[in-house]
Amino acid sequence: MSLRCVPWLVLGGVILALLAAFPLAASGYHLALGISVLYYTVLATAWALFSGPTRYISLATVAFFGIGAYTVAVVGEMLPWPLVLLTAAGVGTVIALIVGLSTLRLSGIYFVIFSFGLAELIRQLVTWYEVNIHKSVGRYIFLPITQEQIYWQLLALAVLVLLTGWLIGRSRLGLALRVIGEDETVARHVGIDTTWAKLALFAISAVFMTLTGAVMAPRWTYIDPSIAFNPMVSFQVVIMALLGGAGALFGPLLGVLPLVFLFEILSANFPNYFSILLGVVFIFVVYVLPHGVVGFLQKHWPKAKLAPFNATPAFVASAEPRGALLDVDAVSRNFGGLVAVDNMSFTIQPGEIVGLIGPNGSGKTTMLNLISGALVPSAGNIRFRGRDIAGKSPHTIARLGIARTFQLVRVLSSMTASENVIAGLAYRATPLWGAEAARHAAALLGKVGLADKAHLPADQLTYIDQKRLELARALALEPELLLLDEWLAGLNPTELGEGIALIQSLRDSGLTIIMVEHVMDAIRSLCGRCVVMNVGKKIADGPPATVLADPEVIRAYLGDSDA
Ligand code: ADP
Ligand code: MG
Repeated sequence: MSLRCVPWLVLGGVILALLAAFPLAASGYHLALGISVLYYTVLATAWALFSGPTRYISLATVAFFGIGAYTVAVVGEMLPWPLVLLTAAGVGTVIALIVGLSTLRLSGIYFVIFSFGLAELIRQLVTWYEVNIHKSVGRYIFLPITQEQIYWQLLALAVLVLLTGWLIGRSRLGLALRVIGEDETVARHVGIDTTWAKLALFAISAVFMTLTGAVMAPRWTYIDPSIAFNPMVSFQVVIMALLGGAGALFGPLLGVLPLVFLFEILSANFPNYFSILLGVVFIFVVYVLPHGVVGFLQKHWPKAKLAPFNATPAFVASAEPRGALLDVDAVSRNFGGLVAVDNMSFTIQPGEIVGLIGPNGSGKTTMLNLISGALVPSAGNIRFRGRDIAGKSPHTIARLGIARTFQLVRVLSSMTASENVIAGLAYRATPLWGAEAARHAAALLGKVGLADKAHLPADQLTYIDQKRLELARALALEPELLLLDEWLAGLNPTELGEGIALIQSLRDSGLTIIMVEHVMDAIRSLCGRCVVMNVGKKIADGPPATVLADPEVIRAYLGDSDA
């Protein structure tokens, strides 16, 4: 740790000591307010840990909060307090994993609705259990825990959740979550096991919510499901986190502070209009501060620009394997009644550049999607280095050594060029992280001609530079096989020349490439062999000069009517 951190650590320590001393001086009312601020801070920060980077809006906060409170109601008097908390954390984790596994495949509005439904479902289940098995609607909680102790426990949780968030933000998991938030498809194709990453963070966030509920439970001497699972808590947490800014660690705190006081005033003075006023606050947040207070501050006081990396163009080619590298064997893929890829067979030898060509809609992109795992074949086998890969998940295939670019360029737009490439380094078979990853990313950016743009957000790059960046991210996986989908499309003649030279240099370094391309000059100058597709079928396979002169290929390109 550098010396520059020392003043900050001292400042943090002083603030923490003051916060810890607060209950000794505060009145009952102020202590209650302090408890509200802290418990919403933990909930909103925990919510933002998961929802901030992934942009999955969860309304399940109160489900976990309520589970924590109920665990205390059930086992509170049987076990010592630390074990009660541990039990709550355990129950929260198990339920988070079950819920996560069943819902994290959903995205967008489906996830929002499901997470809301989930909280309701758990409330109904608990109600049913209490009424039918326990034979009473509510429970009493008599524990010798004072308000001061609740405050201190919440303070500890707040410190812990911020520390956890800080650590995750600097970890590979944090990067994975940001990549998922930017573009989940890209995340899978750079080797990130997206299900696992989302699940891990969802569970971590849920544990903090459950613990908050457990710590808060002794405040109520009586709880029933409508108290413990009050859906308003979930909404308030979302509004607070969004007001502050869910993208930054301290963002939610900036939303919690004003809103706890506002809600306090509203519920004291206008208890009947509370929900309506909550809605108004929500609309205000969405329209006036869409990126929260943090986003507003960053826009008006942008951070100093990062110094660009020093580029050292050094690209290491992977060792050359023996035998057919890729073996596509009678592969088909249907979409409903449409056969997009029809009984395709071809092999790719190590070191080859093979052009995959054919008219629009002939199934080229679908073929690449089948190889890279984006789609599962309806029939047939695909072997890569002798290993069956058909139907394997994209992240597994990426880690095995197949990298791809996309027909419509896909960069992680709000991340820097360097971070885009690091996304490709962090989850490959031999992952790189930290300073070594930064150095390697700089070298790869140099390789594709982006040495001086490492610090720029990807959406500020020109079209060709975004294509270069996508290529650098693919190369970061250290692939043996590279799949390019119309990578040269849309470039002007000068850029085209540069693009062809770049692909040539990759071939010279020993990379094997399948390129889908419409630019015939590029095909002629780069490819040793072409596979031609038409309506899903292979119609020719051979050297470019031969297949491009083949009458059937000419007919396919011109359309039967012109033949
Ligand atoms: P190409 O890349 O050669 O232009 P594609 O592989 O994109 O062709 O498409 C082949 C055929 O499959 C087209 O008719 C297209 O409409 C269809 N297709 C591709 N992807 C899907 C999908 N996800 N769902 C339904 N049809 C699809
Ligand atoms: Mg295509």
